[in-house]
Parts: sequence; structure tokens; C-alpha cells
Amino acid sequence: MGVPDFPASEADAIKSSGFVDSLTGLGNRHRLREKFQKLAEERAEDPAPFTVALVNLDGFKPINDLFGQAAGDEILCQVAHRLKACMTGHATVTRHDGDEFALILPMIFESVSAERIGHLIKDVLSAPYDLGDRHVRLSASLGLAIHPFAGADFTGLLKSAETALYRSKRRGRGQVTVYSTEIAQEMRRSTQIEQALRNAIINDMVDVHFQPIVSLEDERVLGFEALARWIDPDMGFVSPAIFVPLAEEQGFIDMLSDTLLRKAAEAAVTWPRDLFLSFNLSSAQLTDMATSSRILSILANAGLPPSRLDLEITETAVIRSADMAGQIIADLRQAGVRISLDDFGTGQSSLGRLREFTFDKVKIDRAFVSALSTDKTTEHIIKAIITMCDSLNLDVVAEGIENAEEAERLAAMGCGMGQGYYFGKPIDAMATLRYLKRNYRETVYPGTSTRGFSSFIN
Ligand code: C2E
Ligand code: MG
Ligand code: MG
Repeated sequence: MGVPDFPASEADAIKSSGFVDSLTGLGNRHRLREKFQKLAEERAEDPAPFTVALVNLDGFKPINDLFGQAAGDEILCQVAHRLKACMTGHATVTRHDGDEFALILPMIFESVSAERIGHLIKDVLSAPYDLGDRHVRLSASLGLAIHPFAGADFTGLLKSAETALYRSKRRGRGQVTVYSTEIAQEMRRSTQIEQALRNAIINDMVDVHFQPIVSLEDERVLGFEALARWIDPDMGFVSPAIFVPLAEEQGFIDMLSDTLLRKAAEAAVTWPRDLFLSFNLSSAQLTDMATSSRILSILANAGLPPSRLDLEITETAVIRSADMAGQIIADLRQAGVRISLDDFGTGQSSLGRLREFTFDKVKIDRAFVSALSTDKTTEHIIKAIITMCDSLNLDVVAEGIENAEEAERLAAMGCGMGQGYYFGKPIDAMATLRYLKRNYRETVYPGTSTRGFSSFIN
């Protein structure tokens, strides 16, 4: 793959000025700065905005590692070629470090067009790359910033484009973000949360609370779901829905999850023995073969039998790395741990997953329960889920039950278990013991002797 075609005079000019990237033949960062300055000066007289875009390839490093640097270089040249080919003559395309490219788009004046062109570039770069003996697919993330709103000088504008790109990268592959003050604020807040979370995890400031899961037939408590709780001295309560994914991204999830499971298991051994502990496993943990042995050793240290643990996983988690997830699930079930499918109905291809993996329990997402009173279709869907789970021999828990009417209707529909503010909000370990003192009624199984709650405390 050769150097993209430039008009001879332009190519000579960039080569002679040392502003050229020798691999792709595109201009480099100096070239971008020069182009920016020229355009900014022109636009000082005719104050029309223009746009800078940063393009970063997703998952490029593994390509280099897997197929060698020559293949990586070849792809970078093809990217350069595609970028040049899809831009009009007015645009400048440059290559920064590694797999990052930048564009100046003089005719893009506002965010709707910026977003549109961002998606176009993303699509152009997502077509397969021909490496002779194989085809490789890559996606690209983009961050765009509009001059002068997102930065009047080169450094400021590029920094805004980097912020936008950073957001795209964090949202997953193939995302396009146009910088705005709201986005800058969002990113500042997540950086603040990230730093505070790092400290909180290191200093063991993340706690675990427990929410009762009850039998809908007689409201007897059957177990508790452990929910992570973090109160930052400056930011106050931060939802686990925000900090758990952050911990995953930052590579802290194992450390966080181990600490939480240890705390939860240590609390659960003080409960009556017939109560189970339900614990949320994060999707990143299902891509790590060490997960099952770590969990089992934490249980052993705390003295909680694996048969008292239920692990809640989501569909997205099993989809991400199906083979490994399947193996981890099988190892844990072999040891006696039960597996629940959490937030059922909100993910993808739910029914297929039920067939592919072995679960013990399904948790119907709160979205269905809260729609129950207003939407007739929801009632049919819940009924269908319950019937299906019955025939597959799966337990069913309805999540997010907030009032007696919902509880009664779900019980009448044959749903075995329920969880929600109506039965109890998540509370800390001490309050859980007080809750049990008030609410626990032991199950007496014929032929077995179960101990009452009073013998488990003090
Ligand atoms: P989830 O596992 O589906 O947990 C249920 C969520 O619904 C909890 O939110 C709970 O407080 C909330 N909830 C329960 N009953 C009601 C109700 O009646 N009404 C309403 N409006 N909400 C109710 P929370 O604690 O904010 O947790 C959010 C999510 O964060 C959890 O969803 C779970 O996916 C994740 N998470 C929480 N703790 C952990 C943890 O220790 N590890 C991992 N990996 N994820 C966790
Ligand atoms: Mg859960
Ligand atoms: Mg849930």
C-alpha cells in the first residue's frame, strides 16, 4: 500500500518542511498545527467556525501483537488512504502517534454536521482491511471539537477533541462524540469519581448493604442481595451503577469484588443457616478464569458454605465471553454455588441464553414490575416468563416491588420470590441483624432440625 496521492506541490511542501509522517505520507502534528493556525487567521476575518476531529483505532495494539508490525503498518497506511479518499480537498488529514489520526474540517460549522461526518468516517474505517492472506476488521472512535467554541487556540481545541475522544473510548468501541461544555463537565466528574474511587477501594471505604428477598406466598425472608455502597466525603452517595463499571474499566473490579464478597460472606455467616446470600458478579469477572477459585477461597475463609451463595450475573456478561463464562459458571455450580440471571428481559437474546447456560434462578427486571399497574402487555410478559421458568425448573424473583398491590399480583401470577422497597430497602449488616430479629421465621423441614434466629446472634 503506497503513500496517498497528494498534489505534487503539496507533497513536496510537507516533505521539505519536515512535517510529514514517514509511514503514511500524511502530515504530522506540526503540519496540523500549521494548518490550524492558517485557518484560524483566515477565519478571524470571516468568523465561520471549523472542526478538528481525532480518530483513534479500537483494538489496534493486538493486531500488531498478533500479526506483526508489518501488518500493523499496512493497516495504518490503508486507514490514511481511506481518510484521504473520503474527505473533500479542503480537509487536512494528519497522523499523530501510533494509531491516532487528526483531521481539520474547514466546512463543518456546527455539531449536527460534525456528528454526521464523524459517523461517516467511523463507517468508512470499519470496512474490512485486506492484508493479502487475511481480512481484519477494526473499529474507530472519534472525538470532534468545533473552533472557536471548544477552544480558540490550537492546544485548547485539541484538548477538547481529546476529551471528546476519551468519552467515546470509554463508552466502548466505534463511538462518536462532539465536544460540548456538558460533556466536559461529565468527563470532569468521572475523573473526580475515578480518583476518589481508587482511594476508597485502597482505604476500604466501600461497604456492603443487604436487601431482603422474600417468599411472595407468605413474605418469609429467604435471603439477601448484597449491594455495594460508597459514600464519598465530598460527592456524597455514588450509585454502584456508576462506580462498578468504573472499577471494571480501571482494572480494580477484582479487588473491589473480593473485598465486598468477603464482607458479605462474613455478615451472612451470622444469619440463620437457611438464608442465602445473593452477590452480583461483574461482567469483567466472567472473563477471568481465576474468578471461581477466588470466590470459593473467600467463602472458605469466611466459613460460608458455597450452597448458601447465589451469584447474580447479567446477560451482557455472558455474551461478552461466552466460552469462558460458561466454564466459570460450570466450575462454581460444581462447587454448589447457584447462579441467577439478573435484570432478566433487559438484555439481548434472553431466551437463547437460558438454553445455552445453566442457571438456577431468574430475576425479572424492575422495569417490568413497575409497568405492571399501567400496562396490560407487561402482565402477559411476566406471566410468560414465570410459566417458562416453571417448566425449565428455575426459581423466579421479581425485582423492584414497591407496594402491596404489585406484591399481591405477582404472587397471584405464581411468582415465587420478590424483592423491593416494599419488603425492605438495602441496609447495613447491623441493621440486617435487627431486621432478622423482627422478621425471621425459620422453616422447619420434616426430619431436620433447624435452629431459630436467636441462637445465631451473640
Ligand atoms: P441489581 O443487581 O439489579 O440490584 C437491584 C437494584 O435495584 C439496586 O440498586 C437496588 O437498590 C434497587 N432496588 C431494589 N428494590 C427497589 C425498588 O423497590 N425500587 C427501586 N427504585 N429500586 C430498587 P443499586 O444498589 O443502586 O445497584 C445498582 C446496580 O449496581 C445493581 O443492580 C448491580 O447491577 C450493581 N451492583 C450493586 N452492587 C454490586 C456489587 O457488589 N458488585 C457488582 N458487580 N455490581 C453491583
Ligand atoms: Mg442484582
Ligand atoms: Mg437486578
